[in-house]
Amino acid sequence: MTTSSLSALTATFALGLMFAAVEPVSANTGEANLESCLGGIAGQAVSRGVPQTAVDQALASVRPLPRVLELENRQPEFTLSFGRYLERLVTEERVEQGRVMLSRHGSLLQQISVQYQVQSRFLVAFWALETNFGQNLGSFRTLDALATLACQGRRKDFFSTQLVEALQLVGRGEVTADAMVGSWAGALGNMQFIPSTYQAYAVDHDGDGKRDLWGSLPDAFASAANYLSQLGWNDEQTWGREVRLPANFDWHLVSIETKPETRKSLAEWSRLGVTKADGSPLPRVDIEGAVITPAGHRGPAFMVYGNYTRILDWNRSILYAVAIGHLSDRLIGKPGLARQIEPTHGRLSLGEVEEIQTRLGILGFGAGNPDGRIGPLTRAAIRRFQQAKGLPADGFADQMLLRALRESTQG
Ligand code: CA
Repeated sequence: MTTSSLSALTATFALGLMFAAVEPVSANTGEANLESCLGGIAGQAVSRGVPQTAVDQALASVRPLPRVLELENRQPEFTLSFGRYLERLVTEERVEQGRVMLSRHGSLLQQISVQYQVQSRFLVAFWALETNFGQNLGSFRTLDALATLACQGRRKDFFSTQLVEALQLVGRGEVTADAMVGSWAGALGNMQFIPSTYQAYAVDHDGDGKRDLWGSLPDAFASAANYLSQLGWNDEQTWGREVRLPANFDWHLVSIETKPETRKSLAEWSRLGVTKADGSPLPRVDIEGAVITPAGHRGPAFMVYGNYTRILDWNRSILYAVAIGHLSDRLIGKPGLARQIEPTHGRLSLGEVEEIQTRLGILGFGAGNPDGRIGPLTRAAIRRFQQAKGLPADGFADQMLLRALRESTQG
């Protein structure tokens, strides 16, 4: 860190430092820590070629946002159920609005779709889920939010990197520090790109010389298309489809990892008795798919293709990926899901998830530390328990699983 950047930072935090010098109590240590943390980040930005003056200027006005830490640390009381998630994200109103958008921006989307080879309906689906068609861009000052998370949050390394990337955007004059606003976690613009994604994949599509993901829909759509294309999107395929599994289906063939782990050709799945949701045969095309059951064996099953995994590259959430796929289907007139399930099915309290993890541990199925979150370790442990009990091994946690675990751990 050089002297000039120190001076800017010292000006910002002089008060904190003064107190720290006379009375080194914890409240002031926090400010001193923030100062030294931002100093380190400033140094990284400069070493990445951002002009010193730009870094100083951008960081001089940075203020920590306690609200951002609250949001980072919030623990939902219940797990999100598949049915509830879909019900909230893929509403009839949203489907209707999405169709309007698909038509209103039709020629622009069509042109981008051809150029980047990503179907328009997926671009509109991402736009819908990320910002409700641009209505919800977020109002946190990005530099404040990222500085808070980078210096005081739980994932300091990740957010430090994002702050350096954000400073590079400001340093190049792509956006001013004050105009850079977004989500509490630093996501930007219509498609909620984090700064590193913005840096790497945003494009200037309207030709004004700037990549503007807030004010320019051509830039926003083309940037999303470019990102998906670079991730390996294949516009000759869809994301997946709802399927029907035969009664004698081997549940070990269902993928329970976040990224599907068991892929087979559609011909092979057909031989195993898997059909389209209406019972008709799977398409006779030479592609691979994986079967997922995000609401367990009682809920709908999906055959997912490569593009599903690309959606997970965008956002590592099974529910999000299915919601994007399903919404994109609804936008072009495909029907709702054939297999309905109680919206709250699989909804568990934090305490219930911890209990499931604890009981799995007692029985020796090793679900890891009880943390109230259902991740890959927990799903794998559930599957081993189900297998031992002769239950459908879908790796899914619900009240019935909890009951079975309680019975098995009694006395
Ligand atoms: Ca532009």
